[in-house]
Amino acid sequence: MSRLILPMQEPFKGFSRALFSTWIYLRRFNLLFDAGEGVATSLLNRVFGIRKIFLSHGHIDHIAGLVNLVNIRNLGAGDQTAGLDIYYPKNNILIERVQNYLSLTQSELSFNLKWKPLDVEEKIELDQKRGKTFIKTFRTMHSHKQLSLGYNIVEFRRRLKAEFVGKSQEEINKAIWSSGKDNVSESFEQIIFTYGGDSRPIDHNMFKDSLLLCHESTYLHPDDDERNFQQHSILSEVMETAQKGRVKNLLLFHLSLRYSVDDVKQMIIREINKKQPDYKIIFLYGDRIFDPLDNINRRGSTSFSEDEFEANEESDDKNDLLEEDQEEKNS
Ligand SMILES: [Zn+2]
Repeated sequence: MSRLILPMQEPFKGFSRALFSTWIYLRRFNLLFDAGEGVATSLLNRVFGIRKIFLSHGHIDHIAGLVNLVNIRNLGAGDQTAGLDIYYPKNNILIERVQNYLSLTQSELSFNLKWKPLDVEEKIELDQKRGKTFIKTFRTMHSHKQLSLGYNIVEFRRRLKAEFVGKSQEEINKAIWSSGKDNVSESFEQIIFTYGGDSRPIDHNMFKDSLLLCHESTYLHPDDDERNFQQHSILSEVMETAQKGRVKNLLLFHLSLRYSVDDVKQMIIREINKKQPDYKIIFLYGDRIFDPLDNINRRGSTSFSEDEFEANEESDDKNDLLEEDQEEKNS
């Protein structure tokens, strides 16, 4: 039995069902990716913690929850004054209609609501204190009529320089004492999380080495795209692009309602046997995360302990090398 280990080890909640609703919430960064119907109803008072929302595109199953979320932030019994930034692909008429509706009906909000249009390859700082973590946008391939965006969470990390990999701790310590930390280790940009929204298979160069790629897989079989809109992805193509991108974990979401949990599990297992991927696969089905190789399923938020989350928050440069060690073992 393989235990489910997500690289970020932190509270993660989400819901996804193609055509109905999709959203993913990351507590560590107080972020929401997309805002499908029911997001506020599921998150309850956690909505007051959300500081940034990143929308992938303007289809209704990804934005229908915005109006309710803003209303609850305005009226509910939580911190009504904390600001909220909503980032979205620029010139998106559908999202701008929601923005207009909210400005007409919620003209006096208790908090500062900002709408921020984004283009491809834009950077948004997440950790203002240390500038260590940021979001970077990339283009996805969904609708021909509107720009759609995916999002990487990127973290500056440190690792041993190549010449020290495999050396004993004693040798490494000695080198640090004699020539300083910067001669032994180097900083690099690690993509720790990728959210792809709705898309045809995303170019693997967009999420190189991501610790966790969230990629839609609306269809399990090529023939199932019967309307042939060519806007969504099929399991086998997603697995191929994930392999090329050398991801550590792949979370599939936006699955079509026609498939049962067992259909999804069986098809993933068949593809794993065929392709022998180097990464772990899990999938978000409704509000539950499933490991196809495991019989246990769980709601996203219960799979992480608070301790793990706090430990992660305290990490500093000194700990980074240790963390890398840990990751090698986990992956
Ligand atoms: Zn869509």
